[in-house]
Amino acid sequence: MSDDCLFCRIAAGEIPTDVVARGDDWVAFRDIHPQAPTHVLIVPHRHVASIDDLHADDAPLAGTLIAVAAEVAREEGLAERGYRLVFNVGEGAGQSVHHIHLHLLGGRGFSWPPG
Ligand code: 5GP
Ligand code: ZN
Repeated sequence: MSDDCLFCRIAAGEIPTDVVARGDDWVAFRDIHPQAPTHVLIVPHRHVASIDDLHADDAPLAGTLIAVAAEVAREEGLAERGYRLVFNVGEGAGQSVHHIHLHLLGGRGFSWPPG
């Protein structure tokens, strides 16, 4: 837990947030600036700045984020139409909060390649 990290503080329940699901070591909540009709962030409690800091023994953390995203997507009714999962890694790729988070975006169509 880092006191100056926004997502550590959200995970700790210190900042009011629209939580959609919560587990022992992760939380899923709605993005404050949604980029799609459904835009949920899946965040581990553990402070890790970026996917670039993960190693092979962090596979359970990464796997949990992806599996939780799939569960939330089904609960939100996104699975049939399809949805997009995104990790922005580094500021050049659009990462603005330096605590790992998986974006779950759904409820509209998505083009490829992404911008
Ligand atoms: P990134 O740009 O790092 O990949 O994604 C960070 C996301 O966090 C952005 O989509 C942004 O809208 C969202 N965000 C930033 N501050 C807050 C906040 O205080 N509450 C919530 N729910 N989302 C936030
Ligand atoms: Zn953090």
